[in-house]
Amino acid sequence: MIDHRRLGRELELFVSDPLAGAGLPIWLPAGAAARHAVEEYVRDLERRAGYRHVYSPPLGKRELFELSGHLGYFADDMFPPMRLSADDEFVLRPALCPHHALVFRARGRSYRELPLRVAEIGGMYRAERSGVLGGLSRVRAISLNDSHNFCALEQVGDEVREILRLIREAHAALGVRPAGFRLSLRGPGEKYVGDDAQWARAEELLRAALDGVDFVEAPGEAAFYGPKIDIQIVDAAGRESTISTVQLDFDKPERFDLSYTDADGGRKRPVMVHRSLVGSMERLFAYLIEVHGGAFPAWYAPVQLVLLPVDAEQAGAAGELARRAGDAGLRVEVDHAGSLGARIRDAARRKVPYVGVLGAREVAEGSLSLRLRDGLGLDPRPAADALGLIEAVVAARSAELLPPG
Ligand SMILES: [Zn+2]
Repeated sequence: MIDHRRLGRELELFVSDPLAGAGLPIWLPAGAAARHAVEEYVRDLERRAGYRHVYSPPLGKRELFELSGHLGYFADDMFPPMRLSADDEFVLRPALCPHHALVFRARGRSYRELPLRVAEIGGMYRAERSGVLGGLSRVRAISLNDSHNFCALEQVGDEVREILRLIREAHAALGVRPAGFRLSLRGPGEKYVGDDAQWARAEELLRAALDGVDFVEAPGEAAFYGPKIDIQIVDAAGRESTISTVQLDFDKPERFDLSYTDADGGRKRPVMVHRSLVGSMERLFAYLIEVHGGAFPAWYAPVQLVLLPVDAEQAGAAGELARRAGDAGLRVEVDHAGSLGARIRDAARRKVPYVGVLGAREVAEGSLSLRLRDGLGLDPRPAADALGLIEAVVAARSAELLPPG
């Protein structure tokens, strides 16, 4: 049984220190390097799909979350408010939507700007009970890949279909295993906002966007403000869970009195689509560490290439080659310490995708012998070609360690 907590410790990806608090993991340099590569990828994917990125603070005034409905419907899952003075209370936000509604409201909006896609990998907090916390899978501080897409009602179908396409693309690049789609609906005994007609309309729009897709229905799994599509994934142990969601919301545009000027000059209320392509960085990495057994695809491996000079004679050449690899954008290290065999074993233990051995012959010829993480050794080739091979695999975000063909 692969446990991301054990691998997280062994590969020095993150640490949970009781002094910092349960459910508040700290990302160590190796984990942070992998996460940074994934965040850059997600932002780039979103930017090319017309998303606009913002930054907003992880806490805000109590009134903001009263207006959004979070304090009314979600207070049990929030940290208690922090009082600065009698009329100044702040809360750690449980969601990014209230701030993104304020981005929409920052000035007057025209129908020409829609869909307006406000995206952020932002911090939010959940007051989870300490008994359920563990590693990265259940945490109290969450970094969510989030976006709120403000659309005209007639744009919702196309927008949701395009979001589902982006989710498939991101999952393929990361090596996430899809299990299927789930339409989460209202159920008995839960609290919901909004009227029946709105809920029926939202459910109808999501069903239409799922046309031609196999999905199951899950009554009672909707959020308090609207139905959603959950994209189910399978973990290393075969269990299903959710990281990506698409959710319709007629309620927050109402609460925040959001509007845009339509083509005929009239005021119209937008629909808000909450969506996450890959969920929170914490749950995503809990999943990725387990599903890959810590051996990430080269494009987000913490260290992509370790160079091993056979002895001190080759140290200068190894340093020079490392500089060239670093300039080409690769994450590279030179390991001098210990016997060659021990250094090769250490790189394998750290699941580094490429190891380059530099002996006297390689230095004399300007060549490099690459060993792949799976044990395969490649024939010596010009150093520039060896770096080019790694760059090509990284640029293609391939799951394989050799370029196709
Ligand atoms: Zn939201």
